[in-house]
Amino acid sequence: MELEILRKFGKPELATLYIGRYNNEIVEFVESVQPPFTQKEKWVLILSTLYGCPIGCLMCDAGEYYHGKISKKGMWQQLHYMISAKYPDLNVPVKKFKIQFARMGEPSLNEAVLELLADLPHLLNAPGLIPCISTVAPVKASNFFKELLKIKQEYYRNGHFQLQFSIHSTNQKERRSIIPIPIWTFDEISHYGNIWHEAGDRKITLNFAVGEGVELNPENLIPYFDPEKFLIKITPINPTNQAKQNKLNSKITSDMLNNQIICDSFRKLGYETILSIGEWEENQIGSNCGQYATKIIHGEVKLKENYTCSEYEIPL
Ligand code: SF4
Repeated sequence: MELEILRKFGKPELATLYIGRYNNEIVEFVESVQPPFTQKEKWVLILSTLYGCPIGCLMCDAGEYYHGKISKKGMWQQLHYMISAKYPDLNVPVKKFKIQFARMGEPSLNEAVLELLADLPHLLNAPGLIPCISTVAPVKASNFFKELLKIKQEYYRNGHFQLQFSIHSTNQKERRSIIPIPIWTFDEISHYGNIWHEAGDRKITLNFAVGEGVELNPENLIPYFDPEKFLIKITPINPTNQAKQNKLNSKITSDMLNNQIICDSFRKLGYETILSIGEWEENQIGSNCGQYATKIIHGEVKLKENYTCSEYEIPL
């Protein structure tokens, strides 16, 4: 089984989205650079771990369908495609080389993610490697998290792993309505994070994709999350089909003053806070997580037709 590349979108100097077919299913993966850093200084690869996603978060198109887990080989092929194009010998001399298990799919629902994480240090010669797991923390993935901790302790100490929890609201009840499956409470995330975090590690990220009208009361976090171990990341809600259907508008907009006020409310309590608004252009490309895959699955984008559906299409 080999990965077939079907379409490419983006701007290679910033980000390229690949749509591929593997095992008769659609996969999406991305490579990006983040100016002012050069690609040699910072290179970010984002791969899919599931075909769609069974969780169905209110703002995410990947949750519109679920066709199963991507095998270790299927995940590795996404990475190999991007890495070998630049580094055929798999020696990657990039200073900060992030591999994010964060495109389509909740990674903790796929045990093969653990196998790949344990293999990566052997598959690549990449001294700057930093894998990133971004998770909603499903209750049923507790065993995954136990194993993940062991893998991090064996291979990725001293700042070589980034762990991120999707929080979205400081109100736990509201959080559960945005992420509609049984998920860890703040107490459980905090307990795990306190075991996870050792001297030299990166702080654990608490990500808020901030919707209008959603509770953001940083003081609610203080009893659970030590600012010495956890940091805050504020992101917009992207205008996905699901976000539109669920009338979830972003509180983070191009109004930078408003964004700063939100960030400062966390900073005042001692939290390091990152505002990550990415590229506004990405919304025009329509390349937010799962958007193309869902269109393809629903037959809205026909793969065989010879047409350009976006000015951002890159010829194969
Ligand atoms: S945000 Fe993540 S967990 Fe939620 S539906 Fe999308 S891929 Fe799944």
